[in-house]
Amino acid sequence: MAVAQQVFLRDAMRKLNLTRDMFSARVGVKRRALDSWLLPESSLDYRAMPEVVRRFVTEIVENEALLEKYADSAPRRGSLRDRIEINGKNQLLSVEQFTRDSVEELFSLADIMQPIARRQKVSRVLEGAVLGNLFFEASTRTRVSFGAAFCRLGGSVCDTTGFTFSSMAKGESIYDTSRVMGGYVDAMVIRHPEQGSVAEFAAATNIPVVNGGDGSGEHPSQALLDLYTILTEFSRLGKLLDGAHVAVVGDLKYGRTVHSLVKLLALYRGLKFTLASPRGLEMPADIIESMARQGNHVIEQTNDLNEGIKGADVIYATRVQKERLQAEDIQGYSPDFQITQALVDRYCDQDTIIMHPLPRDSRPLANDLSTDLNKDPRLAIFRQTDNGIPIRMAIFAVLMGVENLVQHSMRDVTWSPPSHIGPDDAIFHGMY
Ligand code: ASP
Repeated sequence: MAVAQQVFLRDAMRKLNLTRDMFSARVGVKRRALDSWLLPESSLDYRAMPEVVRRFVTEIVENEALLEKYADSAPRRGSLRDRIEINGKNQLLSVEQFTRDSVEELFSLADIMQPIARRQKVSRVLEGAVLGNLFFEASTRTRVSFGAAFCRLGGSVCDTTGFTFSSMAKGESIYDTSRVMGGYVDAMVIRHPEQGSVAEFAAATNIPVVNGGDGSGEHPSQALLDLYTILTEFSRLGKLLDGAHVAVVGDLKYGRTVHSLVKLLALYRGLKFTLASPRGLEMPADIIESMARQGNHVIEQTNDLNEGIKGADVIYATRVQKERLQAEDIQGYSPDFQITQALVDRYCDQDTIIMHPLPRDSRPLANDLSTDLNKDPRLAIFRQTDNGIPIRMAIFAVLMGVENLVQHSMRDVTWSPPSHIGPDDAIFHGMY
């Protein structure tokens, strides 16, 4: 007789010496899903675990080497804040500050933040704290969502946008600007057109600094919310990230979001990456090398979009970063580089998820991610943007050292938000 699911999972957790939280993080599923698999079959909330999970766990517990790799033999030391610090400071400049364990710990905190992000609860753990949002380059989402995240934890926000109205237009150095701002605010989010510039800001102050995008360098908070979205969607679909096929599409040369995302994804095991870009906009070689060093991944590069997305579990499309093009003569994508409903129907399954960091260029001839997918539930772009809030709240809570206060600080909201935020939101939107 087959072993009961409950017994099978308990046995695996015992062999691996993992708590429920740690086990669900290692397997890459939500704690909530695991809880439902661990209930007696007679329970109303009982759920059968997907076959792929049973196979994955069986493979680990039956193989000595894998067992050792996944088991918790070395207890984690120190707080998450200490484990991700950089140059001895509580700042977030690059996804390279994370390991698989620490990134998943951040995601557990983001799960705790969800009721606040979904306007069911309020919290004031950052009451009295002020955030300085310094954006020297165009932004809507990142600036507003960082600000909203800080406010939803009880803090307040001061903003400055563009060079024209900043003292930098008068020749002020990054060092001076950063040191001055550090005297006014308790944390800063900085976006700047030059790669490496946010690290320069960070070096000139001891307060928490978050990289909100430095040229074509990195965009760590975007990649964190992207990975969180992938794991949340996979949990709903009963898929695992280890072994999945991720197609990264578009301007891979200048797109900072994909530079950060592929480094984070590479923390998982056995992924297949297809990097599909127009000629001249390929992923930089140093990033491919760093992905390859991380694990046993298959990394394929192609200039053929159809080849790139065939059978993908995730399609991550990007915009041409026109503002950063140099010698390349590319204004928009050609039509054969556009992700459309027809293309996805032809080359992908019903459970593929389609992502984009946004903004998508909806002008004619841009050939960016097509709006004909808007009513397709595979399109996850607004679930992605919604996830920006809990992720950015989690980042602030960790950098400011209040993560353990959040849960007990929550009160019910006094107003009533709509049940669906967008008219086209799929039925599962808002589930986690
Ligand atoms: N919003 C993203 C960024 O700031 C993506 C983009 O602009 O294309 O990098």
